[in-house]
Amino acid sequence: MSKLPWHHKLELRCGRPSTPQSFGPLEHRDCPLCGNTRYRSVLENQYYPLAELDVMSVAECQRCSLIFTNPIPSAKWYETFLSPKVNIWWDEPVWTTYEWQDQNSRDKFIDGLSIIRRILPNGTLIDVGTGPGLFVRLALETGYSAVGFDILPEGVTRAKTHNIPIVLGKSSGMEFNAKFDVVTLWCVIAHEANFVELVRDCRRALRPGGVILVETPNMTLWRLLRKPRALLERLRLTATSHDALSAYGHINHFTARTLSYLLKECGFVDIRFHAVRNYGTERGIVDWGKHLLFTTSRAHINFCFPLVATARKM
Ligand SMILES: [Zn+2]
Repeated sequence: MSKLPWHHKLELRCGRPSTPQSFGPLEHRDCPLCGNTRYRSVLENQYYPLAELDVMSVAECQRCSLIFTNPIPSAKWYETFLSPKVNIWWDEPVWTTYEWQDQNSRDKFIDGLSIIRRILPNGTLIDVGTGPGLFVRLALETGYSAVGFDILPEGVTRAKTHNIPIVLGKSSGMEFNAKFDVVTLWCVIAHEANFVELVRDCRRALRPGGVILVETPNMTLWRLLRKPRALLERLRLTATSHDALSAYGHINHFTARTLSYLLKECGFVDIRFHAVRNYGTERGIVDWGKHLLFTTSRAHINFCFPLVATARKM
C-alpha cells in the first residue's frame, strides 16, 4: 500500500476516486442455468466501489429460480480489476495466499474430506480451482492421490512453492476423461460464467461411481430475507448497499434448490447436502442455530453457510 501515489492514498481515505470511473464493458446474459429469458430483478444498482459507472443488478430466474448477476463483468473488466495501477485496492489480496487458506479454510476443508471419506474412503482426487492448494495437501495427507487444477498462474506458482501437485489449465479444456474418483469445487461455481459446462467437464473427469463435492455461498436465507430488507430500505430504516454481494466477483448465487437442479442437469445422482464449519471469524450463535435446524430437519431446512453438496456419477 505504501507504493501508492499520494492522490490515490487520499482517494482511498475518502473511500472512492474523485471522478466516477469504468473498468470496462459489462455483458448481458439469459439465465445461465436453464437459459430462460424471463427473470426479475431482486437487487438493483450494484457496483464495485472503484468502478461506479459499471452498474449491475442481481436477478432471479422465473423458471429455475437461480439468482444471478446481470450484466456481468467482461474479460476486459476483470483485467482492469486485477490491475493494481487502476484498482488501487488490489494490492496483493491476502485471501489468494496459502497462509490465508490455512488460517481460514482449514476446518472447512477437513470437514469436506471427512464427508468424502464416508462415501469413498480412498482413490484419485482432483481439486478444481484449487488456488494455493491447501485442500490438495490435506487430501494427500488423508491418503488420496490428489492433484490441484487452476486457471490462474499465480495460484499454480503458490501451490508449487508449497510442493503441492497442481496443473495449470482452462476449466473448459479439462481433459481428464474418467480419470478420477473424486472431483471437488470449493467456491468455484459462484465465479464461473460457464458453470454448467464446468460441472459437465467435472462429470467427464470422474469414473463411474465417482463423487463430486461442490461448495458455494448459500443464498437461501438471503433470498427469504430480501423482500423485507428491500422494504426497510425503501422506508429508509436500513442503509442500502451498492456492494451487498460482491456481485462482480460472485456472479452466480445458489440455493440448495438451484444447486440440486444444476447437479441433476449435469447427470449426477444421489445428491446430498452437508454442513461444514464456516470461516473461523464468521462462526457464532447464528451458525450454530443454522446447523441445528439443518440436522433436526434432516437437511430439509438448509440455511447453512456455506452450501455443500455431494453427488455421484452412475
Ligand atoms: Zn433459470
